[in-house]
Amino acid sequence: MSPAPLESILDLAPYAPGLSIDEIRIRYKLSEVVKLASNENPLGAPPLAVEAVRKNAASIFRYPRGGNPLLVETLAQRHGVDQSRIAIGNGSDEIIDTLMRVLATPGKDNIVCFDPCFSIYPIQAHISHLSVRRVKLGSGFSFDFDALLAKTDQHTRLVFITTPDNPTGYCPPAAAVENFACGLAEKCPAALLLVDEAYMDFSPEEKEYSLLARNKLLPNTGFLRTFSKSWGLAGLRIGYAVLPADVADAFWRARLPFSVNILAEKAAIAALADTAFREAVLETVAAGRLLLSKALRDLGCEVFPSAANFLLFAPPRDLICARDCFEKLLERGIIIRGLQSYSMPDYLRVSIGSPRENHLFLEAMADILKKAGA
Ligand SMILES: *Cc1c(COP(=O)(O)O)cnc(C)c1O
Repeated sequence: MSPAPLESILDLAPYAPGLSIDEIRIRYKLSEVVKLASNENPLGAPPLAVEAVRKNAASIFRYPRGGNPLLVETLAQRHGVDQSRIAIGNGSDEIIDTLMRVLATPGKDNIVCFDPCFSIYPIQAHISHLSVRRVKLGSGFSFDFDALLAKTDQHTRLVFITTPDNPTGYCPPAAAVENFACGLAEKCPAALLLVDEAYMDFSPEEKEYSLLARNKLLPNTGFLRTFSKSWGLAGLRIGYAVLPADVADAFWRARLPFSVNILAEKAAIAALADTAFREAVLETVAAGRLLLSKALRDLGCEVFPSAANFLLFAPPRDLICARDCFEKLLERGIIIRGLQSYSMPDYLRVSIGSPRENHLFLEAMADILKKAGA
């Protein structure tokens, strides 16, 4: 008999990755497939990062330097914080997972988050044997901070909020986040508020929405950022956090020593220096977001305001349901994100693409809605 895995692990639904470009190309015999499902960078990878990967390819027989010191220094400078606050991980996913194990006691403590939210928070909590206490999003998918605070108790060790939120695009003002952090400090002195700012670079008014951008570093609050979205390095797996120094210290003790590989570290440093690419990305996303919002509304869709590089929308209900719309887009070679796993089956999420990708998506939507109305 083979060893029996834990019941708590067998309870997990296997991770369902989105459909790949190749699968759809073969299934529908298409020459071109557009993927706007994972909020990847619309302009691809930063040229300076690609060059850094090429230049350092021959070094891959070496282990990385422990603690990623060059990147720590670069990021500390960028955010104007002490190096002791910086954590780096194999994607921000690794930081989320490690912090749960560093801060919370299995079988006893809990985490608190919104419902729906980024699925990694509840899944990793479950794997770490922490209970998950959830608060439904308010009207228009806004955050009810009073309800969030009410869910916390003396066993709460982590509270997650995502600003701008995924999958909704909603972003609360920094003052509301600060107010919540202060309330949490009073009620649960042992809890860390983790503000996931994976999409904050795309926000039109970063200073209005980000405590990190304002350099408001509260003793019970940490910030997650990633190289996967605006920096165009999703496939290399690298993310970082700005944390209270004692939490960052505990993180580094627990993190696997070499989880961030040397090419990822070199590419991240090069990406931070690629200012031309950076400006082009932010312009492309801002212009694309405006264009897609307006065009989808003109087609009769309900579109939610977004501060991120994606839009949440519902197709016109009298013409077509979200699921059929998703399938008909697939047949036409356009992959977007259905939201069944977020318990939002009536909505779809589309990433802002390049001008050409946006055009192909809108052309397909117009065709689908015209045929549905005929
Ligand atoms: C994409 C995303 C991340 C980034 O995860 P990585 O592991 O760094 O790729 C983090 N948080 C949210 C909410 C995201 O959507």
